[in-house]
Amino acid sequence: MLRTRLAPTPSGYLHLGNALSFVVTWAIARAREGQILLRIDDLDAGRRRPEYLEDIFRTIEWLDIDFDEGPEGPDDFLAQYSQQLRLPQYHEALRQLKEQGHLYACTCSRKEIRQLSTNGNYPGTCLKQGKDFDAPRTAWRVKVGPTREVTIPGWKRGIESIDLGREMGDFVVRQKNRAPAYQIASLVDDEHWKINFIVRGLDLLPSTGAQLYLADLLGYEQFTQATFWHHDLITGEDGQKLSKSAGADALKTWREAGKTPGDIFQIAADWLGVTEGSIRTSAELLAAVKDQNL
Ligand SMILES: [Zn+2]
Repeated sequence: MLRTRLAPTPSGYLHLGNALSFVVTWAIARAREGQILLRIDDLDAGRRRPEYLEDIFRTIEWLDIDFDEGPEGPDDFLAQYSQQLRLPQYHEALRQLKEQGHLYACTCSRKEIRQLSTNGNYPGTCLKQGKDFDAPRTAWRVKVGPTREVTIPGWKRGIESIDLGREMGDFVVRQKNRAPAYQIASLVDDEHWKINFIVRGLDLLPSTGAQLYLADLLGYEQFTQATFWHHDLITGEDGQKLSKSAGADALKTWREAGKTPGDIFQIAADWLGVTEGSIRTSAELLAAVKDQNL
């Protein structure tokens, strides 16, 4: 059974890109009789705000889509689903990686890395220095090396391959403030919830490579079998990142102006390649996706 998730971050009001990602994920899952989890990523609790949490639920309602598992509202989220409640699981994964010898401790400053790096990646300064993992202001990095191919099973785009060494190098898995990195939290949660279909923007292709690499080291059975769809990013007509006027503003502004989400479904239909006729609602999108047997 297909299991996927909507994974917004409550550190700002949602925008068009979030809505498109929700809508295409929802339509594919419903067309295949899969299950949808709402997974709110509040790893950075300092940036979480109640109005952003509320906005996630209002947006889902406004789009007229639904999910099968996850919080019923902001209070239920904070009581049962916050990533802050799952920190022990993330630290357990870090402990496992460390014990297996996949990590090393790094005390380099950003400035030092900038000065020594030839390609923007970490130059590996601390790799062979055996620094103390538990010293203050110490980041933990995973050994990737300068070149490492990772294969990504892709939906629609087929199998893709990236060079994780070139894209990310020895990336950080635990930050200097001891917080687990996004790559760890996202992966541990996806494995926990048995997610096997992940929709995300093309900008996250290196992240997917990083997470598949970690999943392999951790022996995760679900994530290593998952399929990914890295969709195009929304750009303006000139191919540039969207300006405010072109639709990068918050969906909240659209809702408050009484706009319906019709345009969002039309773009989503385009992305999915189901462009026969006008598609302006979640029901119409779902019907079109079912028709095409995507
Ligand atoms: Zn270092």
